[in-house]
Amino acid sequence: MTRFIAPLLFLLSLTVTAQAPMVPTDYFDDPLQVPLALAGTFGELRSNHFHSGLDIKTQQREGLPVYASAEGYVSRINVAHYGYGKALYIQHPNGYTTVYAHLKNFSPEIEAYIKKLQYQNESYEVEVYPNASELPVERGELVASSGNTGGSGGPHLHFEIRDGEQRPMNPFMFGIEIEDTRAPIVSGVYAYPKGENAHVNGSAQRQKLRLIPQQDGSFKAEAIEACGEIGFGINTVDQLNAAPNRNGVYRIETGANGETLFQANFERFSFSETRHLNQLIDYGYYTQNNSRIQKLFVEPSNPLSIYREVNNQGFLNVKDSLSYNYTIKVSDFAGNERIVNIPIEGKHRNDIIEDPSNTTEFFVPANTGAQFESNGIDVYIPKNSLYQDAYLDISFEDEKINLHEDVIPLHTNISIGFDVSKYKPEDREQMFIAQLNKWGNPSYSTTTKDGERFTTRTRSFGTYTLARDTQAPRVVPVNFKDGQWISGNKDIKVKISDDLSGISSYRATVNGKFILMEYEYKQNLLTHDFSDNVITETKNQLKIEVIDNVGNTTIFESTFFRK
Ligand SMILES: [Zn+2]
Repeated sequence: MTRFIAPLLFLLSLTVTAQAPMVPTDYFDDPLQVPLALAGTFGELRSNHFHSGLDIKTQQREGLPVYASAEGYVSRINVAHYGYGKALYIQHPNGYTTVYAHLKNFSPEIEAYIKKLQYQNESYEVEVYPNASELPVERGELVASSGNTGGSGGPHLHFEIRDGEQRPMNPFMFGIEIEDTRAPIVSGVYAYPKGENAHVNGSAQRQKLRLIPQQDGSFKAEAIEACGEIGFGINTVDQLNAAPNRNGVYRIETGANGETLFQANFERFSFSETRHLNQLIDYGYYTQNNSRIQKLFVEPSNPLSIYREVNNQGFLNVKDSLSYNYTIKVSDFAGNERIVNIPIEGKHRNDIIEDPSNTTEFFVPANTGAQFESNGIDVYIPKNSLYQDAYLDISFEDEKINLHEDVIPLHTNISIGFDVSKYKPEDREQMFIAQLNKWGNPSYSTTTKDGERFTTRTRSFGTYTLARDTQAPRVVPVNFKDGQWISGNKDIKVKISDDLSGISSYRATVNGKFILMEYEYKQNLLTHDFSDNVITETKNQLKIEVIDNVGNTTIFESTFFRK
């Protein structure tokens, strides 16, 4: 009888002990005034990071009014080509900061403030920290309109709530409510035997378990035989009622026979740890299958702060001839749960085929790092850029290095150097270090040139080679022609693109005077808005200089008339 009720008790006790940080629950309002629908939730697993806020849907369009979530003052404005695009930060008197990103533009007052700075700095990209008296805002005051700027895959508002140390927190904890009656979805569960003689169904390798759906919505895995330290992993997402997007879950707990093994909560993290997501997931599985298995065990090299109660690093120690029921409970913020039960029979085996330990001559101890060199190419892997000791597969070819495969996560940059002494200085100018993707296509890897040596820093393994870009960028007018009257235009637009190394910088003038052009990299578009009121003459000589990453320059010139 005891055995039977124990799993239930464990689930109950965890629900009671999971303490959320104390936060105000009626302080922050939804910053949009449309029915709340989300494309992304807090803690969602993204490429090299956890999602730090809510992605609020904006009805597939730009330009929805964005309102201050609470009173405060604009404490930071950042305009960037990539990342958050146009972003606004509001500091609130209770110590929290709210963030509004991928904006189309700001309210007229803030827009004027930032335009002034952009013309002063002669740059679209600017960042500024106004003081408390410059741009105060009331709760519900219009501060911006929603957009799709920066690294945004479609119109939406990215909204964050950060604590006093600028750590993003789960906005749901602050009482922002959304309908959610759907339980998290579990699409895969895996077992990971760890250490000598550990096995699952006779194998020392990761095993996918077969899940059998139960009447009550839970899953029961096909019983496994195992022995030794066994960890588990899960593919899981949450869905909300208002949209079909696959979002992040709120909490994952595991236990066996009444003992808690593991609990992770997506409530708060710091930006300095967000890249350690690659330690939460099975990184090699992800890069090869484009699917994220979250590990339900915590390796010693994993410093993430999302874990609460963790015993034996989350591993279950399976002993010969004992029975276990391992349970996974996945919850969303609304409290909907999905439970997976995994029956395990402990069975010792002597015939376990261990992982074939792939040794190579390129061994990297994680805590000391290593350096290798051949064929005029060198690679430097600093200490602690790897999470675990590894034997790397490296081959040095002519002007090309195959540096393992992108199946091991790198936490910090490694550097790769190429000897280019055999090239004349003028030939070196158009050369750069490229990373080749799996189809062999080169992409620019930021290259530092120091005489006869090129270096690049990177956080992914793969193939790197020398490449050459001989083509200057292309500049093509979109909504005007040379010599044309364009009094009716509200803006001028040109497309800029580069065939290989990519756009490095651009600068536009009219009659010798700087004009602001906004760069939207996703559309290769540069736009000047005439409402800036800096173009006042009838005859206008437009000049746009565009430079690629190796210094090839295009100067586009055109005349237009306005009155
Ligand atoms: Zn977002």
